[in-house]
Formats: sequence, structure tokens, C-alpha cells
Amino acid sequence: MCFNGCEKYPGDEGLLSEKSELTIEEAKAFVDNQNLLLFSLKSGDSQEHKINIRTNWDFAKCINNEKVSVVETLIESMGRFGFATPECFEEWKASGDKAYLYSMSKLVVIKLKKTNQMYSFIMTVAGDKQYVEGKHFDLYGNTYLKRDKNLSGYVLFHNLDGKFVNGWVYCDGQITNTVIEPENLDMQVRLKSALNVLSLNQWYEECEFWITYYIGSDGNIHITEYTESCRDILVFLGYYETGDFEGEPTDGGGGTSGGYTPNNPIDPNLPCSNDPIKNPTIASSGPSGQHGGLFGCVRQGDNDCSEGVYNKFHGGIDISADYGTDIYSMYSGTAKIHYEPGGLGNYIIVSSSINGQSVWIYYGHLSAINISNNQLVNCGTIIGRSGNSGNAGSTTPHVHIQTFVNGTRVSPLQYFYTQFDPNTGSVLNDPCNSL
Ligand SMILES: [Zn+2]
Repeated sequence: MCFNGCEKYPGDEGLLSEKSELTIEEAKAFVDNQNLLLFSLKSGDSQEHKINIRTNWDFAKCINNEKVSVVETLIESMGRFGFATPECFEEWKASGDKAYLYSMSKLVVIKLKKTNQMYSFIMTVAGDKQYVEGKHFDLYGNTYLKRDKNLSGYVLFHNLDGKFVNGWVYCDGQITNTVIEPENLDMQVRLKSALNVLSLNQWYEECEFWITYYIGSDGNIHITEYTESCRDILVFLGYYETGDFEGEPTDGGGGTSGGYTPNNPIDPNLPCSNDPIKNPTIASSGPSGQHGGLFGCVRQGDNDCSEGVYNKFHGGIDISADYGTDIYSMYSGTAKIHYEPGGLGNYIIVSSSINGQSVWIYYGHLSAINISNNQLVNCGTIIGRSGNSGNAGSTTPHVHIQTFVNGTRVSPLQYFYTQFDPNTGSVLNDPCNSL
């Protein structure tokens, strides 16, 4: 869901870049509306254990670079869980020191500055034995955007449902390999034939209370000491493979290499947030030419504009769209379905609160409606398909977009991601789908 993170702040262009940075409140709203949270540990033979986790926003931090805006915070779990390298695992068995089992997991929310797309996921750092000993088991120096310069071990990314997405192997702060979760891995065959199989001991200690965190007198984050008895540590062996890493050696934080890389993080077929279709252009509408698709007195005909050749008022803008094109809601809000046979035909109004104002955005001449009346939609929800219903039967295919702000009709141009020249209709900025 997009919430504020999706919204621009019309009339406040000078502050746009600043406001496009993610706030803790936005990150929290984004995560709260996903089905948090069960983290599942899986063994190679499909044993599975689900763990309740929750976020602790008291430790949330905002970090930004030129491409992404990040909020990361701690997660708490019902019982303890973690990932341990084989060497650390052996050390725990030999010494009984549970610190060797410990790995650090954070909840991370990122917003891509160019598109406002947001993702949330869990980042886990599991250091190798030498590294965790050198850091006195404090792994919190590793953030999403920057890894500790001495990090040796693994960084893993999981979705909030616990599904492994991708990971990285580090040696002295440099990425050396990728981590891959093989699908349907036949361990018998692979273990004999491949040297690059990596096993991580995923462990879980069942407790009937939340394991929480606090900042100690030393300023570092600690896990609550607990005396209540927990059940034995259960171990699930997780098998991964390491893959080649061909990127440039960097500090290895997200935003360079080393980030969370879900499949198709940016789908080039999707429109940018705040655009109703991908790469919109203003339609040349009817015999009056290019200007006719713009807002205002841009057409010839009725004399509802006082003077001049272009004396017919157009109450919105026309965005070119082949018949049947998916139309996306530009903002989150409440969608209402309407029908006006001599005008906008089948149309939808999505009412949103944008920068404290009540904004109604109309999507007209649709051929299909994909939502139900009064449905809550998100920025990016497909609400209908373009068409020529109403009085658009003889014009080039387009979707008519018009806006009312606090009840007053205004030009809709400011509500698009794509910026148009209000006089010529030409596009002024780069498409967003090129990150
Ligand atoms: Zn129109």
C-alpha cells in the first residue's frame, strides 16, 4: 500500500525531494498494513517452524542515499531464532555459549526515490566465528545501506512471510559470492558433486514470551536477559548455494550491491506511482489538434470561454490510451462508480486526502470497471480499462482525467508523476521506469 509514501505534495515543489524521504510514520503505516508477521524456518527436508515476530519501532532509524530512503528497526520474536554458520554452531556445541548462535535480524522498509515504490523485508546478518568474536557479538554496525568494513559472513534477505529472497557472502567487508536457495535441491546429489553448497544452521528456541531489546549503559543494543525457562533449541539445517558475484567491489550495502533484490523490483510494464498508465502522453483530441487534450479553453466549439478561437472549455486532460488499457489509481482513496451516457460514460471518482486537501480524481470514458462501488483502492490499483464510453465515441482512444480540490475544479497536471508542459502538453521529465 502506498499511503503518504506515494503521494506528492502539490504546490510545494521546492520541498518535493525532501518530502519524498521516508518517515518512520510512513514506514510503520506501510508495514502495519501487511500481514505481519510469521517468520518461517525451513529445513532441507521441508520441516517448517513458524515464529511470531513483531516490530519494535523504538529503535527505528532513517537512512538515505541518493537513490533510496530507508527506515530500519528491530524485530522482536516469540522465542529466539537465528542463523549460525557451521563453525559458530560447532563452537556453541563445544562451549555451550549461546552467543555463538546469535544472528541479527532487522526489519527494513525502503522507498525508491525515483518511483516512490516501497518494499519491506527482513535483513539478517550472520557473522563467521572470527568476525562475531571480534565484534563481541554486536552486529548492529551493519545497516541496510552500509556494511561494517570488516564483515565476514552472510547477509540474508527474507520477505515478511519468511520466504528467502536473496543473500550475499562477505569477506572483510567485500562481497565475494551470492547466496541462492536452491529449489527442490537434491542434497544427496549436490553434496557429492558441488563444493559450493552452504549450510546454515537455522535455530529456534521456543519461549512463551517476547524476546525484546534494550539499549544498555554501554550504548549498545542488547537482548533481554531472561531466566524463564525456554524449551530446547531446535535446529533446522538450511541449505543454500553460493553463486558467483560479478559486480564491482563496494562497501556492499544496499543501494549499491548487497541489497535486497526481489524479482522484478521495478516492473517496466507498470506505471510510476501517481500516473494512471505507463508513460502517459496528452492525447490530440479531435479536429482542434494537440491542445485539445489539455485543460482549459483549448477547443473550438461552444462559446463557454469568453473570447478567441479556442472558446470551448475542457474540464480535464485526455491521456492517450489504446482501447482496453489498464487504468491505475494515481492515489489511494475511496473509489465510486458513475455513469453519464452523454458525457464521461463509465467513470470512476477516487477521493483522496493529499497534503491535507480533499482531492477527487475522475477517470472517464472507461470500457470496464474493475472495482466495486466505495472500494478502498491503493495508489497503483487497477481500477478499470480505457474505452470510449459516453461522448468519446469518435475521438482517439484516451482516458479523461479531471480533478476537484476541496470542491473546486483544477487542472490535474500537478497530480501526475509525469510532468507536462501546460501549454504544449509535451512531457518534461524522464520516465520513472529506468532506475
Ligand atoms: Zn477529456
